[in-house]
Amino acid sequence: MSDPISQELFARASKVIPGGVNSPVRAFRAVGGEPIFVKEAHGPVLVGADGTEYIDYVGSWGPMILGHAQPDVVSAIQRAAEKGSSYGAPTESEIVMAERIRDAVPSMEMSRLVSSGTEATMGAIRVARGFTGRDLIVKCIGGYHGGADYLLVKGGSGLATLGEPDSAGVPAAIAGTTLVVPYNDAYALEKIFTERGKEIAAVIFEPVAGNMGCIPPDPVWLAALRTQTQNHGALLICDEVMTGFRVAWGGAQSLYDIRPDMTCLGKIIGGGLPVGAYGGKREIMQKVAPVGPVYQAGTLSGNPLAVAAGLETIEQLLRPGVYEDLERKGDQVQALLEQHAGAAGVPITVQRVGSMLTAFFRGKPVRNWDEASDTDREAFARWHAALLEHGVYWPCSPFEAAFISLSHDADAFEKTGRAFKAAFAAV
Ligand SMILES: *Cc1c(COP(=O)(O)O)cnc(C)c1O
Repeated sequence: MSDPISQELFARASKVIPGGVNSPVRAFRAVGGEPIFVKEAHGPVLVGADGTEYIDYVGSWGPMILGHAQPDVVSAIQRAAEKGSSYGAPTESEIVMAERIRDAVPSMEMSRLVSSGTEATMGAIRVARGFTGRDLIVKCIGGYHGGADYLLVKGGSGLATLGEPDSAGVPAAIAGTTLVVPYNDAYALEKIFTERGKEIAAVIFEPVAGNMGCIPPDPVWLAALRTQTQNHGALLICDEVMTGFRVAWGGAQSLYDIRPDMTCLGKIIGGGLPVGAYGGKREIMQKVAPVGPVYQAGTLSGNPLAVAAGLETIEQLLRPGVYEDLERKGDQVQALLEQHAGAAGVPITVQRVGSMLTAFFRGKPVRNWDEASDTDREAFARWHAALLEHGVYWPCSPFEAAFISLSHDADAFEKTGRAFKAAFAAV
């Protein structure tokens, strides 16, 4: 149950905003509740409209790796704002961001800044189509790559939660340019390339799936992605909007030694402000206007405030030991989940890569969308409601990853442990 003030705000919001929210995953539909409205947030703590404090494991769905209102990020934004919030002309900070990105993710020899992850994947796909002269793209069932028409086909959490695998309003002709394959299935990938390899511009994939719950990639499948695309003249687009700077400084591609042609970033590189980036090999990115024929533009692209927040965030992540610390914290949350689920006799499987994880309410591992959807949704909903009651704000869908920040400390984990204990008992 949400608090009375949130309930009032939700009723008011629902009159002027569809579903009362500006993005469907915020609506608590998957757990049959109503959203908590947020007043403010600091470190690992989210403050609800009525002043109740929650330990936050959503982290704005990924960006807040340092925790909320991190002082250095706040002052970087303030300093930038004092110098003007948008010019519509290039700045040195954008160069620094592109250089930082290239240093961390060497496959991104050149990159373009945009204002969201959605724009990043749209840009990358247009470039891939322009570069190859082909129309078809391949994505995974349950993979989410933002809100573009041709990417809302079997799109994972947000869509699945509404019981719609695909969105209305997408012309069949456009959905028809997207082919889908199961995640982690090398055989299905080979089959689709054997049948339609000459028409495929690119495969876009999440190197660690996060939008059907956290699913690590199978190395055999990763190898097939690279060889199949290469052999058929298609590009491999690694969508690291969630995993970039999250699972490692160099993203999942550094962790699993993936060598993509193009990469998409977002979330963390904006430090909580709206940013995305796409990039890749120089010869591919030279297709982008004004040097090449593929048009892509944005009034607020490379926005000075967003770049300042992103650069400061990335800077903080360069400190020694940061990713070891995130790994330890992730391990701690996993241990708490397993301990209390075990004690209560609730079968769960925790899947985790560093500081992103999902507790699937099923007793077996999850490798793809079919298996992710075979979880106990009612048990999850009861667990989620009990967590809220005990001061833990967990993603409101069984098909989402939870995120841990550097600001999560012993106090936060103590409160979390108590909440897990009570919530598993309530399942
Ligand atoms: C969040 C996400 C996107 C979309 O980013 P937005 O900023 O929400 O548009 C794309 N791909 C992946 C893998 C994501 O997790």
